[in-house]
Parts: sequence; structure tokens; C-alpha cells
Amino acid sequence: MMEHYFIGADIGGTTVKLAFIREDGEITKKWEIPTNTEKKGESIPADIAESITEKMEEDRMDKELILGIGAGAPGFVDTKTGYIHEAVNIGWKDFNFGPLLSDLTGFPVWVDNDANLAALGENWLGAGKGCTELIAVTLGTGVGGGIIANGQVLNGANGTAAELGHVTVIPEGGAPCNCGKTGCLETVSSATGIVRRGKEMIGDYPESTLHPHIKTGALTAKDVFEASKAGDEAAKQVINEVTDVLGMAIANMAIAINPEKIVIGGGVSKAGDWLLEPLEKSYRKYALSRTAEASTFGIAELGNDAGVIGGAYLVKKNR
Ligand SMILES: [Zn+2]
Repeated sequence: MMEHYFIGADIGGTTVKLAFIREDGEITKKWEIPTNTEKKGESIPADIAESITEKMEEDRMDKELILGIGAGAPGFVDTKTGYIHEAVNIGWKDFNFGPLLSDLTGFPVWVDNDANLAALGENWLGAGKGCTELIAVTLGTGVGGGIIANGQVLNGANGTAAELGHVTVIPEGGAPCNCGKTGCLETVSSATGIVRRGKEMIGDYPESTLHPHIKTGALTAKDVFEASKAGDEAAKQVINEVTDVLGMAIANMAIAINPEKIVIGGGVSKAGDWLLEPLEKSYRKYALSRTAEASTFGIAELGNDAGVIGGAYLVKKNR
């Protein structure tokens, strides 16, 4: 029998990650192209199509073997049509991406939000493998969320379901968020939020080891975790606050779907247990105890491949 392939495409603000993926989820080839955000990102579909054709020729891959493309974009997506309402980082607004990419490649295309794709990837082959109810949170420069309920990824009435980063956690006086609101979870529990809180906190801690990092202007979330591990009081305080708020937000979200597993990914998740332990403690403090009993926490396993693998799974589920 001939081997068939899915194509996964994970479109980010600086690169588009692409992969050929076998039906069992194994990546046979992966590569990246730069995201050209000039002219409101209009060349991106053609850039992707051209690159796919090139790689297929390299591998002498027959068109008949491709089952479809599953693509993720950071923004508000109409998953039924592949239409992008808005993807700020790449410049798209009211962009008919899915049909355009399908016309250019001749393959069927399914599109979803990038955080939803990461959740799908982890649900298929990663830390949330086989879970019918799953919350996936991506902690990077922002906070992304994806929710699987009854085995299906949630999209909502107009593509904003599971936008966990924009749950309001500071009702008044919070920092401004990219979405236009203030006090969103993303302003607190992202890498950016951790750095901001670190800078605010050290005013009260003249001895903090975070001061030298701030002087050079290069404080990172990793520095705050490292300092916290080494016993720095200011850093410990920041991590406590950040995980407390995040745990509360996840606990509140958990009541809606009663998750079996909560998977944390993104750059900040590299802190491992230093993040998970206080986070889980906070979750158990705020969640209904029966809800908490059903859930375990884990760090995402697929890393940068979660999006393309989720894309493959999107095709697998829909075709
Ligand atoms: Zn927001």
C-alpha cells in the first residue's frame, strides 16, 4: 500500500513551520520559511504553496499521496470556511486564507487558530494523548489556550473559544493587553508579564539578584525562575503571584469542561516543576475539589512540532 501524507503548516509572526507527516503522525520532513508580513501578509499563501511544491519535487512525492493541509494561524479563524477575521502579528484582516491556499496547491485545506492546533497535536500524540477533556495553555510572549471537550476542539460562535490569555484577572488598573482590554491573564502570566512584575517588585527588595539583570535591560522570565530557585525573595514572590493567578484562571475555566488533563507548553514551560508545582497548588486551592480530583498537570511534549502535528490531526479528523 502506498504511504499517504498530511501537510502541517504553523504560521507564526516570523516563520512558517511546514511538515510532511505520515498517517501515524510521524514527521518525515520538516522545514521553515520566513513569514513575509509586508503588504499585510498577502504573499504568504503563495510562499507556502511554492515551498510545498519545491519540497514535493525534491522528494519526488506524488500529488495523489497528499491527503490535505492543516494550517494554524495566530488569530480569529472561521474554521468552517478557512477565513481569517484578523491575525494581527502577520497583518491579515478579512483574509480568505483557506480557499486561497487550496486554489494555489490543489489540496483541501483546513484552518484553525494556532493554539487550538497545538492543543490538538498534544491531544493526538503528546502530553494530552487520548484525553477527551483537555485544557492546553501556551505560555510564551503571550498566553494561548486550546480546549478539547467531548473529544472536539472548541471554536465557539465566532472563533474566540479558549482564548484563555484574555480572561480578565485584574478588574481595574491592570496593564494594557494587545487585544485592547486591560488586566488580561496574558499581561500577568506570560513571559512578558513575569518580566514586568519582576521589574515592579524589586523596588521593595534592594538586595535582589534581579537588579543586575534589570540594569543591563535584559531581564528574562528565565532569569526570574533561576533567581527564585536560588532563593531570591523578590523572584519567589513574582513566581508565586504569577502561578496563583494562572491557577485561578485555569480552575475557573475547568468548571466548564471538567478536564482530565491540563497541559502547559510554550517557552515559560521550560521551567518544568518550578512552574508546575506552585501552579498545581494554586489550581487545587481554587478549583471545586471534585473537579480538581479528576485532573492532572503535565508539560507539553511536542515542543515546536505541536502546531504541524495538530495540523495533520485536523486533516485526519475532517477529511
Ligand atoms: Zn487581552
